[in-house]
Amino acid sequence: RKKAVEGPLVGAVVQGTGSSSFLVFNLKTAELLTRYQVELTQDFPQEGWVEQDPKEILQSVYECIERTCEKLDELNIDISNIKAIGVSNQRETTIVWDKLTGEPLYNAVVWLDLRTQATVEKLSKKIPGNSNFVKSKTGLPLSTYFSAVKLRWMLDNVRKVQKAVEDGRALFGTIDSWLIWSLTGGVNGGVHYTDVTNASRTMLFNIHSLEWDKDLCDFFEIPMDILPKVLSSSEIYGQMKSGSLEGVLISGCLGDQSAALIGQMCFQEGQAKNTYGTGCFLLCNTGRKCVFSEHGLLTTVAYKLGKNKPVVYALEGSVAIAGAVVHWLKDNLGILETPEEIETLAKEVGTSYGCYFIPAFSGLYAPYWEPSARGIICGLTQFTNKCHIAFAALEAICFQTREILDAMNRDCGIPFNQLQVDGIMTNNKILMQLQADILHIPVVKPSITETTALGVAMAAGSAEGVGIWSFENDNLSNIMGERFEPQIKATESEIRYVTWKKAVMKSMGWVT
Ligand code: ADP
Repeated sequence: RKKAVEGPLVGAVVQGTGSSSFLVFNLKTAELLTRYQVELTQDFPQEGWVEQDPKEILQSVYECIERTCEKLDELNIDISNIKAIGVSNQRETTIVWDKLTGEPLYNAVVWLDLRTQATVEKLSKKIPGNSNFVKSKTGLPLSTYFSAVKLRWMLDNVRKVQKAVEDGRALFGTIDSWLIWSLTGGVNGGVHYTDVTNASRTMLFNIHSLEWDKDLCDFFEIPMDILPKVLSSSEIYGQMKSGSLEGVLISGCLGDQSAALIGQMCFQEGQAKNTYGTGCFLLCNTGRKCVFSEHGLLTTVAYKLGKNKPVVYALEGSVAIAGAVVHWLKDNLGILETPEEIETLAKEVGTSYGCYFIPAFSGLYAPYWEPSARGIICGLTQFTNKCHIAFAALEAICFQTREILDAMNRDCGIPFNQLQVDGIMTNNKILMQLQADILHIPVVKPSITETTALGVAMAAGSAEGVGIWSFENDNLSNIMGERFEPQIKATESEIRYVTWKKAVMKSMGWVT
């Protein structure tokens, strides 16, 4: 006999760069019931290129859903209790597929990919009138990071994509659109939608009018009929067309960083969170105001929780390489067997011994936006060993966060008195302690660390016509999990930070 569960359940797809997961929550009791995760491969076909297979991504999501249902079954929980599903995803990653066959027409070009450097240079020369043309509409600097240039590259270089566009068979989407179109039936009636948060990362979306922007599409020469329809982050998108959850509503869609902002309950202006995954993303809620940064931060749509609800904006500091540096030490240098092991190595020495590691593998994002930067490890002596390098890699993540927090302080004028953190890397206690030391403010981890999943589950559960849960309930208010206090003197963090900045300067201008 199946165990009765208290109230309806909500499922959350979390599709990241490193892995896909499916998690099931009981929002009323603030419980995570179970989860399943599948690691993903990334292809690096040429220097600077990063691709993923859209079909592998989709398959991984199906596998996560099915395995999670099996696990619920083992827990004697009836899967028919799952009433809604939310989808959150790695942002900007670009896919074009054929709407008649359902086949992707090229690999997904991942957000980290640098192949569009020449495209970006060419485009920046033809910016009309004022150089603020793109930024004032999108909140974003013209960079390899965002979807429009990746799509432009595909249209210029992939014959299959050109042909499908000519024949009216091509659909463009970020990962959310690809997943939702496929999960709702694909060639058999799948819906071609995206949400405002994902749209705001394409560089084709006007963040003021909340519509695709004709001038931007003209500038990037993107045909508007291949773009998905833009919905709010919390409304009914469609129904699951197959599998164990067939018929369940998909009613939430959010870019992963927006989902984490919601999952951390940052609903007030001035509240901020930092998520440590492949990259590292610090978002600060700026309320209904679009705040434009003077210090290299992005202006982005934080969320819009319902068709008739107001849009809320965020300032964002994006760091390309955080967890990815740990992955690199493991796979490229082979000095780690598992990502967790970096903590053991770092603990062994407790210092980088003057070694600094600038992981500018994809150039530098915020606050520099410097595509010419490349990674460097400096300050080496005969004494330096792999433990010092491991320590320097963790420190690099903390220094990059400090640069963003400093930029945010300057833009907002209010200094942060603590930092809310989440993401898988927050399990690394040395990293968290280092972060508190380097920022010289406390670092605070919530009790439910699956904030991305929780955020999109909240969006899905509260959608109009679903009504499983409401944002007026404050039963999920962040019960603090763990708190890390600075343990070194402010002057010491300052000295290390100044040296870090000196090292950053040395990483710039490696490629022209
Ligand atoms: P994404 O959401 O971008 O897919 P994940 O949240 O799956 O990324 O984070 C994976 C990254 O975190 C990997 O690059 C991995 O190397 C790193 N990572 C995972 N656990 C730890 C740990 N305990 N210490 C340091 N790094 C870790």
